[in-house]
Amino acid sequence: MSKICIIGGGISGLSIALEKKFEGHSINLFESSDKVGGVVKTEKKNGFLLDYGPNTLNVRLKKTKYLLQKYDAWDSCLEANPNSNKRMIIRGEKIINLPHDGFTFLTSPFLSVRGKLRLLIEPLLPRSKNTDTETVASFIKRRMGQEVLDYAANPFLAGIYAASPESLILNQAFPAISEMETKYRSIILGLKKSRNRDNNPNLSKSKLVSFKNGMEELAQKLALKLENEIKFETLVKKVESVSNKWRITTQKTNGNYSTLEFDEVYSTIPSHKIDSIEWKNIHQNHRIRDLCCATHHPLALAFLGFNKKDISHPLDGFGFLVPEVEQMKILGTLFSSTLFPGRAPKDQVLLTTFIGGERNPNLAKQKDSEILSIAKEELTKLLGISGHPTLETVKKWSEAIPLPDGKISLCKKAALELSKVNKGLHFAGSYLSGVSLPNCLDPLQYKN
Ligand SMILES: Cc1cc2nc3c(=O)[nH]c(=O)nc-3n(C[C@H](O)[C@H](O)[C@H](O)COP(=O)(O)OP(=O)(O)OC[C@H]3O[C@@H](n4cnc5c(N)ncnc54)[C@H](O)[C@@H]3O)c2cc1C
Repeated sequence: MSKICIIGGGISGLSIALEKKFEGHSINLFESSDKVGGVVKTEKKNGFLLDYGPNTLNVRLKKTKYLLQKYDAWDSCLEANPNSNKRMIIRGEKIINLPHDGFTFLTSPFLSVRGKLRLLIEPLLPRSKNTDTETVASFIKRRMGQEVLDYAANPFLAGIYAASPESLILNQAFPAISEMETKYRSIILGLKKSRNRDNNPNLSKSKLVSFKNGMEELAQKLALKLENEIKFETLVKKVESVSNKWRITTQKTNGNYSTLEFDEVYSTIPSHKIDSIEWKNIHQNHRIRDLCCATHHPLALAFLGFNKKDISHPLDGFGFLVPEVEQMKILGTLFSSTLFPGRAPKDQVLLTTFIGGERNPNLAKQKDSEILSIAKEELTKLLGISGHPTLETVKKWSEAIPLPDGKISLCKKAALELSKVNKGLHFAGSYLSGVSLPNCLDPLQYKN
């Protein structure tokens, strides 16, 4: 049995703590704030339920369901409204449904006839040697054409990472897609084969879930099994290697310092927080700097509630994303009260609008009133809103999501190297495992 220290009580830290506890180790998890979850935060306001961080958890990997069951969180999962399969984008200042089968692909105005023909020749194109540094933009343009880049890849990446396809590296962001070209030559054929669950034993039917009390309930469920192990309001200040042990210095919010020794340490704090800790007597200490280099952009979420009768759009889907070529200010909007029940009071709706990211970082730093008026102005035109909002709230993230761009491989190399040369020191977190909740529930898989 080892004595293990875990730094950070987000989903990555909680998952490692549970895994190690189930293996029989003694755990101390230090969390600087007064609650678990990290960026997974939910708040109740005027009868609305607001998810400030993640809104949905995609249970597609069989391992995700297995872990949720193991941690007693599965039975509380709330499945998204079947309407959430309906995805939308903006084209020509209008909301357009994305196609979901061959017929809707042919009839949908989401691509021009020319764009559709260009996409349809993808299976005929030869393999090309995609390099470790090829961007998502270059790959999509090469295989599927400019229009798919503009109206599919660009808004899709704004939705996942609040980033542009020009910055993201295909191998880091979508390694499976990159492998498809090598394996099947065509991405369309590869996607068809890999979607067939008989060909991929790790996948089950894709299912979006959340919880009755919002996504924060996930963190609370994980923490229930760690009641004695979590030390709240305890900031880790120093990690020091001292004769085969790890000496951890912490500071409580009342200012009191303490020091404890452990056999192993798992840091799960974000890349941009790594240098807030003093790392002492560490082999290859200079590599710590590389861990801090992940790119993050600021992001603001504008939450708007309305009376249902004041919106002419039926809000019958997941929401919409905005391609950059449409030259709007918002990145996209989730129809939150359509997605899950209990997000808005009776006869009202909740819309969550994303602003900023790589496309418009400065907009995310504006005053709340400015962010709300951008969201209201653009939503009013798109959704046909006539009345006044019944709720207006903003959540700002100054460093929202670590991007799988050119720098992330440096972080990963440094994390692996530091673990190799410092026995018992480990790094995890969304910048290493990948940002999705399923990745953070299995945060050490990046080491394999
Ligand atoms: C706005 C937004 C929307 C998102 N939407 C989705 C979505 O819909 N679906 C999805 O799958 N994913 C989504 N994500 C991504 C996902 O939520 C995150 O990648 C994941 O929750 C990160 O978890 P983590 O534990 O790695 O890090 P964090 O959540 O950042 O946790 C780190 C923890 O470490 C603590 N800490 C920091 N420094 C110290 C220290 N020195 N001592 C002690 N504790 C410390 C912090 O207080 C924090 O609790 C979203 C993220 C954001 C920001």
